[in-house]
Amino acid sequence: MWSSGARALLCVWKVRFAGFPGRSLLSTNAASGKSKARQCWNCGSAGSVESGDGFFCEHCRALQPPDPTRDYFSLMNCHRSFKVDIVKLKHRYHQLQCLIHPDFFSQKSQTEKHLSEKHSALLNDAYKTLQAPLSRGLYLVRYFPAHLYVTPSV
Ligand SMILES: [Zn+2]
Repeated sequence: MWSSGARALLCVWKVRFAGFPGRSLLSTNAASGKSKARQCWNCGSAGSVESGDGFFCEHCRALQPPDPTRDYFSLMNCHRSFKVDIVKLKHRYHQLQCLIHPDFFSQKSQTEKHLSEKHSALLNDAYKTLQAPLSRGLYLVRYFPAHLYVTPSV
């Protein structure tokens, strides 16, 4: 698994990441893993968004905008590594879909509907990118090259 993936990576290295499937998710400070305290757009509570999974305000339970500093690995609760537990990834995907799928927001405000669509699109991108070894490797090369060269556990 690891060696065939690594070989695939060497091949794609030569094509200069043409047609890279992941969207530009990360802002410039994303790699540091830090994020500023966010304020709820609905009730104005500061910092209440940070606890929990960061999707909903703790005070008013309104869905919050996606955190632009969050990468796909963090979103999907995976280690930043080429080795990803696909079963856990799928479980996390379904877990998050149950939280943020637009169908659950049909009775909510336009803002929350719009936010749930954004979250859902992001989640689909993250899942697709991390699920396939090739796109996962490209994502690592692009955003976390240092994490590619960790010695795989035997
Ligand atoms: Zn709130």
